[in-house]
Amino acid sequence: MNRIAVAAVLPTAAILMAAAAPPTTPAPVDPAKIEITTTKLAPGVAVLFGAGGNIGVSYGVDGTVFVDDQFAPLTPKILAATKALDSKAVKFVINTHWHFDHSGGNENLGKEGSVIVAHDNVRRRMSAEGIIEELNAKFPPSPKAALPSVTFAEGVNLHLNDDALKVAHVRAAHTDGDSIVKWEKANVLHMGDVFNRSGAPFVDRSSGGSVAGMIAAMDAGLKLADDKTQVIPGHGPMSTKADMQAYRDALAAFNTRIAAEVKAGKTQDQILAMKLTWKAAGGDVPADRLVRSAYQDLAAKK
Ligand SMILES: [Zn+2]
Repeated sequence: MNRIAVAAVLPTAAILMAAAAPPTTPAPVDPAKIEITTTKLAPGVAVLFGAGGNIGVSYGVDGTVFVDDQFAPLTPKILAATKALDSKAVKFVINTHWHFDHSGGNENLGKEGSVIVAHDNVRRRMSAEGIIEELNAKFPPSPKAALPSVTFAEGVNLHLNDDALKVAHVRAAHTDGDSIVKWEKANVLHMGDVFNRSGAPFVDRSSGGSVAGMIAAMDAGLKLADDKTQVIPGHGPMSTKADMQAYRDALAAFNTRIAAEVKAGKTQDQILAMKLTWKAAGGDVPADRLVRSAYQDLAAKK
């Protein structure tokens, strides 16, 4: 199964399950079915694609930094891919947020000595049972080795490998613990799932996310980007500032559309019956989850 198919299948299967059944913990991914591919972006900077969130990598004389680490069963393959970059031990792991497909490798890497760095709310959420309502998924509290041992409220900078990685928190966006990461010198930007190009934008309201926060977070990302910035989305192909702008504007237009339907007196079910879609990198996809998020944000404001 190629990586696009894997990325597309995970959320779709979860949507089908999201009826009245109690939440369950997703089955582990099968590493035999996943290929990790590497693209070098700049000297000492690469991106790894596999299953789950895209991994940004800083490597060089000062050690390796991962931005996200996908799923636990993939750790050996991920490390093998970075060895091919001639990288050293993974000194730091930055989690863009707590979700299982971005932090699943934390325990393995933490046990190997990596220092895990994330927003305060990532540690808080991983310390207790986690629920992603829209995926009908639940996760047990993470073991100590998987928890971020360095946390921050607004941001933190890492100075290594002849570059500065600026980690900035964006509030109440995809979750309440999102960070975006900019390589200042290499001009690479990792947007985490604030910018998700493998399906419709996903706002995890059960983890404190909001549509308005997603739009604001895209604006924060756009301020860090120029026409030469190489943008790593949480999922999907490498992107540009123009791709970010188009996604941000489409998300704002979508939200405005839902607001108009709500103002016209439509219920959530009536809006869902319109079968609105989202133009994703691989083609149009259903936008039911985004409809629910936008509708419920508006309902919560009333
Ligand atoms: Zn996520």
